[in-house]
Amino acid sequence: MPGRDCPRCPRLVALRESWREREPEWFNAPVDSFGPPDARFLIVGLAPGLRGANRTGRPFTGDYAGDLLYSTLKEFGFARGRYQASADDGLELIDCRITNAVRCVPPENKPLPREIASCRDFLAATIKEMPRLIAALALGRIAHETFVVASGARRSEYPFGHGNTRPLGAIKLFDSYHCSRYNTNTGVLTPQMFREVIAQVRKQLDAA
Ligand code: SF4
Repeated sequence: MPGRDCPRCPRLVALRESWREREPEWFNAPVDSFGPPDARFLIVGLAPGLRGANRTGRPFTGDYAGDLLYSTLKEFGFARGRYQASADDGLELIDCRITNAVRCVPPENKPLPREIASCRDFLAATIKEMPRLIAALALGRIAHETFVVASGARRSEYPFGHGNTRPLGAIKLFDSYHCSRYNTNTGVLTPQMFREVIAQVRKQLDAA
């Protein structure tokens, strides 16, 4: 896990420091993974949202993407408790962990390729510390590609596509469009499409 002052991405460090001044009560630091390391299922998002995880300190917590993600996880038995959009709401993940491709908030939700590459070491370490991992869900193309590379495979052999499922060593990789407000508002991803992907993961884990 990177320290609070990880210096690797100067552009993201500058943004982090400016928000520490503007909003000293916010988390404003690299956001750690959420959920137990012995989970069999890992969800990989893009990066903390400015007023979501960057504010609350927990992935997908405090913005719209979290509303859809956590309600769907609860429906399929991957979470219990009440999601109340704050890191101390007591929500628990079951056999599931959530992380991000990039751990610091990027301007306009758009990390640069070199920032994605710099943060990949932390994703690779997250994968390595999960001995029971057999299913991963990439939310969007960037999460998909960095997960493939972090797993030691070639990205050209694993094209991203919503609903795709591919074995990647011992792990089955599932793809979904990101559950962002933009994607749901524009109809790129409906809640039902997202449910269908999580249902597939549930089925795989139940059969394992
Ligand atoms: S995005 Fe990752 S590598 Fe870059 S500064 Fe933040 S924690 Fe460090």
